[in-house]
Amino acid sequence: KLKRGNCFSIYHGKMRAKLERRRIIEDDLFSGQFCEKGFHYVVQPQIDGTDGSLIGIEVLSRWEHPELGPISPFEFIQIAEDSGAIEQLTRRLLDMMLDEAGKWIGRYRDIPKIAVNVTPNLLENKMFYSNLIRKLRKNGVSPERFEIEITEESELLSSEQILSNLRKCQKAGMTISIDDFGTGFSGLSYLTNFPVDKIKIDRFFISLIGKSQQSEAILRSIITLADGLGLEVIAEGVETAEELHFLVAAGCPHVQGYYFDKPLQPKEFEEKYLAGRHA
Ligand code: C2E
Ligand code: CA
Ligand code: CA
Ligand code: CA
Repeated sequence: KLKRGNCFSIYHGKMRAKLERRRIIEDDLFSGQFCEKGFHYVVQPQIDGTDGSLIGIEVLSRWEHPELGPISPFEFIQIAEDSGAIEQLTRRLLDMMLDEAGKWIGRYRDIPKIAVNVTPNLLENKMFYSNLIRKLRKNGVSPERFEIEITEESELLSSEQILSNLRKCQKAGMTISIDDFGTGFSGLSYLTNFPVDKIKIDRFFISLIGKSQQSEAILRSIITLADGLGLEVIAEGVETAEELHFLVAAGCPHVQGYYFDKPLQPKEFEEKYLAGRHA
């Protein structure tokens, strides 16, 4: 039988374990040891559903921790963002990814556009643009081959520093993409004055294709909206042929999702998608 005191200590035990876990993750991030401790990335192909051709890849972080086991990106990205370690994480991620992309450029005719997830914290840094452009140049990756994915968040829309960074990136030729489109609370007016090139329709709406006429109506409206504003559009989380067919018919042939491929190790991706395109 548990007494109240026991519940209390069980609760505190759990809290302590949670804090300890968080401390390990933060320490590894700040000390820069995460790359030696199982941090890496995978890339998920973005496909033109009309002909199956590759149009881009999204870079996604992974962490197989030696003591904690696999950590979900939702967990470690949140911790990194809260603690400020997102700078270190993204810097190393970009170094690894762009180094690999530089090698691909030497080997293959054309490389896909590379989309990376960027949080408000990073974009608040005055040096964001100059650091990024330097890394791209160093590896011979043209800014036109680079895409920044951001979610609709109030910090993004209201900060002058963030706007300035995004405008410079866009001016240099990078693509600015709104991730998880349709799930934020930003309203739509920002689409007319914010530097945006592309919207990425959230998986939530895709998962309701064939199940909810309302969601299908919203999807069609988003695609029409993007078209009317001259924005590119892509659907994420496409898992079935039915979803793909709906999207192609609705005018959104660009898709990302398990239907075509899951996120792949860079080597696996290279063999499967690039090996046929020798320079
Ligand atoms: P996201 O940016 O919305 O990324 C898409 C997520 O959907 C990925 O989850 C991907 O693996 C998953 N996914 C792709 N296709 C399908 C599908 O057909 N069905 C389903 N059910 N899921 C699919 P993942 O890799 O677990 O990443 C979760 C989130 O963590 C990402 O969501 C992103 O917000 C964040 N994240 C991951 N890596 C990074 C990073 O390097 N930097 C930042 N700032 N955030 C990252
Ligand atoms: Ca994303
Ligand atoms: Ca997304
Ligand atoms: Ca998401």
